[in-house]
Amino acid sequence: PILYCEADTTLIDVAGTEVLVSVYSPNKLVTAKEIAASIKEVLMAQRDYLGGSLPVDKYAFLFYFTDEPVTSYGALEHSYSSFYYMPEMPISEMGQQLRDFAAHEFFHIVTPLNIHSEEIGHFDFNNPKMSRHLWLYEGMTEYFAGNAQVKGGLISTQEYLGMLQEKLQISSQFLDTVAFTDISLGALEQYEDQYYNVYQKGALIGMCLDITLRELSDGSYGVQNMMADLSKMYGMDKSFKDEELFDVITELTYPEVGDFLNTYVGGNTPLPYADYFIKVGVQYALMDSVMDFSLGLSQQSIGVNFEEGTIFVQNEETLNLFGKALELKNGDIIKKINGKDFPKLGPELGTFIEAILSEMKVGEPYSVVVKRTSEEEESREVELTAEIFKVKRAVPFNLTLMEQPNEEQLRLRKAWLGQ
Ligand SMILES: [Zn+2]
Repeated sequence: PILYCEADTTLIDVAGTEVLVSVYSPNKLVTAKEIAASIKEVLMAQRDYLGGSLPVDKYAFLFYFTDEPVTSYGALEHSYSSFYYMPEMPISEMGQQLRDFAAHEFFHIVTPLNIHSEEIGHFDFNNPKMSRHLWLYEGMTEYFAGNAQVKGGLISTQEYLGMLQEKLQISSQFLDTVAFTDISLGALEQYEDQYYNVYQKGALIGMCLDITLRELSDGSYGVQNMMADLSKMYGMDKSFKDEELFDVITELTYPEVGDFLNTYVGGNTPLPYADYFIKVGVQYALMDSVMDFSLGLSQQSIGVNFEEGTIFVQNEETLNLFGKALELKNGDIIKKINGKDFPKLGPELGTFIEAILSEMKVGEPYSVVVKRTSEEEESREVELTAEIFKVKRAVPFNLTLMEQPNEEQLRLRKAWLGQ
């Protein structure tokens, strides 16, 4: 790819690898220098994760930020570069997502670049043939992106569990009774609508495989080592035969790993996540609840006016107790919270809500200004207030650290997360 724009570039040196960051930000909200500083930390963690050096001499990150409203955005990897299309915002608001994207795309230098089957090595763009190993190309890459950040100390164990929890939640909305290899083979046709799950279940497969390997090797060998060995065995120019990879990995590691791959990746048995989490002293609850701060709105009580970009109350009977205490009513359009203007629908909304929630304290005053229209009069702004209290919130697939893990669990957790 070529990014053609008014130049804003930065070159950084990451352990001898020359990394170029080029940015197009139409309103100059974010600069190449800021992006480079954020990415550099991630690249350092990735270098350590890959055993001390990066496998390329040169790499380019190309960023195209847009100030148009977007409903979807993302990134694409190319052999020595990756391209990013994202909503324009200051670096402080981009935060973790930028790092997660960059870490994922950069890790593609391991796979598929250095580990791929013939279908990928000689990709037929006119008549594409899929490989059955998207769990490896995308899943393992996504797993690496998160695991390298926790191992490198860039995110906490708690934050990492949050990432995994989100993957479990999203993954639960996809098919779990078809072999992942079949979904991969059919990703362009029959299973096109399952594709997004390669970043969710694919990464979770990587995690379970990592824990399996660490357990069998008493902590000394994980997917990091397995991927390094496969890179040495194949590399840039040598493809593996798609149907032989499981046997190759089994040969390289343990017979139990062959069973794992044939049962949970090549077979249609869902992964028993709880069994893997317990090995590393993590409690996995299918449905849990926590007491937490809230804006008073539940999923069902939020209405969205896409034309105006506003959020209003609907189904007021489904408001949580805090929303009821505020006496929110159907049709109320949220205008201000605690005196601050409520942003229009867009990327800054999430950051705004997060900031409000993080500032809430039990017993302190809370106010929300709504635009209310009643039948007999014109619409007017009304300020609703309540003393802050926590409400019960359902948490599906909740992951928490066990209170009293045994030595073995702690040892395995350390091998898995480095902390
Ligand atoms: Zn990818």
